[in-house]
Amino acid sequence: MTVSDVTAPTAAEAVTAADEHPFVSRVAHYADSVLRPTALRTDREGVDATRVAEFSRLGLLNHAAPARFGGAEVGRDGDRRLHEILSGACFNTWLVWAQHAPIVGRLAKTLAEGTDLPDIGHEILHGRVLLGAAISDVRRFPDHHITATRVPGGWTFSGAISWVSGWGLNTVLTVAAVESSTRTVVTALVPVGDRTRAEHLDLSAVAGSRTERVVLDDVTVPDGNVIGTEPLSVWRSNDLGTASDARPHHFGLAEAVLRELDQSRNQRAREVAAVWRPRLERLRIQAYALADETAAAGDGRHRIDERLATKAASGEALTTLTRALVVARAGHGIRLDDTAQLYARSALFVLVQGQTSDVRDAQLTRLAL
Ligand SMILES: Cc1cc2nc3c(=O)[nH]c(=O)nc-3n(C[C@H](O)[C@H](O)[C@H](O)COP(=O)(O)OP(=O)(O)OC[C@H]3O[C@@H](n4cnc5c(N)ncnc54)[C@H](O)[C@@H]3O)c2cc1C
Repeated sequence: MTVSDVTAPTAAEAVTAADEHPFVSRVAHYADSVLRPTALRTDREGVDATRVAEFSRLGLLNHAAPARFGGAEVGRDGDRRLHEILSGACFNTWLVWAQHAPIVGRLAKTLAEGTDLPDIGHEILHGRVLLGAAISDVRRFPDHHITATRVPGGWTFSGAISWVSGWGLNTVLTVAAVESSTRTVVTALVPVGDRTRAEHLDLSAVAGSRTERVVLDDVTVPDGNVIGTEPLSVWRSNDLGTASDARPHHFGLAEAVLRELDQSRNQRAREVAAVWRPRLERLRIQAYALADETAAAGDGRHRIDERLATKAASGEALTTLTRALVVARAGHGIRLDDTAQLYARSALFVLVQGQTSDVRDAQLTRLAL
């Protein structure tokens, strides 16, 4: 499979230009001075409540919300840039934030379209709550999913959520459950409480993200907390529209690794950076252009093979670059106090994150060439 010609690089340029936005530049300063220097410790000890409070103060918990909620009204380009900056500085912190951030934009859009939100939705737009996400199990329907059962005035959600990042920090989860007889996906805001029980996962990568398996023990969800119902086919098409693309965190992590290769004392390591930097930029240009085209087409399968190829190529570029950094750092590179091993393990996670069966097939097909 080959990646086709690149369209004009305007989308990627707009993302880079978002550095001029005062909000983005404040976050970049915070990322450089607080997140990056503590990334190794955060990987070992976990993202903590202090960090969430810092995010709240910085406006990162409602960056996409309207000004009347105290939000910075950051648009698509700025949002992509924030994902690049945060993932490059501390991948664990980024992963926790990445579960929260898209829902803020979704709620702001719902409100702008004239649909009122539950009280909890207003709290989220004010940036007072950190959300977790329990979305990905829908991909496994019918083998495994959270079940949604209709009851008077709402729904009952039951089942085991395979992955919830930010557990212990988030007070509300965005849960996507499936009503199987009508094949309807019900997405709702579910407060963490007595009926949401975590089971510990031992992770070899992104362990600092506090990712756990969470059991929903017949949780009652009032209609007011439902933020969307849609046919499973529509959900799947929308999921294809995001999970099939190389995303900003690919490029944020790559930039962090390229920078450290650039700073290496080893001339050959600097050469690796010089060779790969333009390749990564080309993938970034392509990924953002294809994602924008797909959104405009409103069809999750738009140019799907090229998008999957771009995502698979980005994942492989990351494993290659991070491997190069380990090689350049020699034995020290696999000590827990070295960023090379942190980046290499983060790159492994990127390979499985947001992985649909289409993505997996594209990755394995490429590896079998
Ligand atoms: C650390 C981490 C954090 C995450 N955080 C979140 C989050 O906060 N919110 C969220 O919604 N999602 C989260 N995800 C989900 C992520 O997006 C999923 O990895 C992705 O959707 C793929 O799903 P899966 O790993 O559950 O694959 P599955 O659907 O479980 O597995 C897919 C395929 O893998 C193979 N397979 C699975 N198990 C085995 C086995 N035991 N032996 C052999 N083959 C097997 C089979 O071929 C199977 O069909 C997280 C994932 C990880 C790893």
